[in-house]
Amino acid sequence: MEELEESIRAAVALLRESRRGVALTGAGISTESGIPDFRGPQGLWKQVDAMKVASIEFFQRNPAEHWRFAAERKFTGAAPNAGHRALADLERKGKLRAVITQNVDGLHQQAGSTRVLELHGTTRTSHCLECGMKFQTPDVLERVRRGENPPLCPKCEGLIKSDTVLFGELLPREVLEEAMAECQRADLMLVLGSSLAVHPAAGLPDVVAEHGGHVILINAEATEKDWLAEVVIHGKIGDVLPRITESL
Ligand code: NAD
Repeated sequence: MEELEESIRAAVALLRESRRGVALTGAGISTESGIPDFRGPQGLWKQVDAMKVASIEFFQRNPAEHWRFAAERKFTGAAPNAGHRALADLERKGKLRAVITQNVDGLHQQAGSTRVLELHGTTRTSHCLECGMKFQTPDVLERVRRGENPPLCPKCEGLIKSDTVLFGELLPREVLEEAMAECQRADLMLVLGSSLAVHPAAGLPDVVAEHGGHVILINAEATEKDWLAEVVIHGKIGDVLPRITESL
């Protein structure tokens, strides 16, 4: 307990000094909103082969099963939690220039963060692979639930795919470049709820550290980059992060 208090004090001290902070978030910040992560103890990988259903190869071979899985996950009702709100608060306090996220759920924007760099795209929108027409994903999921699977474009009958980056696809170049530039400039990075197993996102804390920035890491369990961080807190983001932001 004393150790936790000390780590919180150390994180607050670093944030007070920081002028160009960024956050890197992963699926762990959204588990308290009811969205399972991939690799945590309750993670999706314990239930299905997520690498399979979330890969572009699988989507191309079997789009109907991919969409059926998406429709069953019911991302759409989730609301931001205390962790998302604390990050939006940090931005309002002038402490965060950007939230770089691996998440595709849109909860940072819902919580009020205004500069969110979505490395892996978003589930909120979808597009036709043939003509590029845009759709709101909840509308597409509704069609899938009614049995229209795989969902096709009403204009050209092309296959519809969500705007998430699947395993095997390239990350959006401009977003990645912007994230890189922010990390090179950052004097501090908060890493929240990521096992740091998926590259290139997993390499971003290294970029911050190589450019002289501090790294604070909050995660339920040990990650592959704990060694890199000046402050490591193993705990729930929704418990820990609000305590840090409220002490600023
Ligand atoms: P991950 O599943 O590999 O790791 C999540 C980490 O968060 C785990 O180490 C877990 O212990 C920790 N964690 C879980 N709940 C926590 C909590 N309340 N407080 C603190 N830590 C907590 O996630 P990742 O590193 O983001 O990689 C998974 C990939 O899957 C990403 O590329 C992401 O795009 C995608 N994904 C996104 C969502 C989402 O948008 N919410 C959900 C699942 C997977």
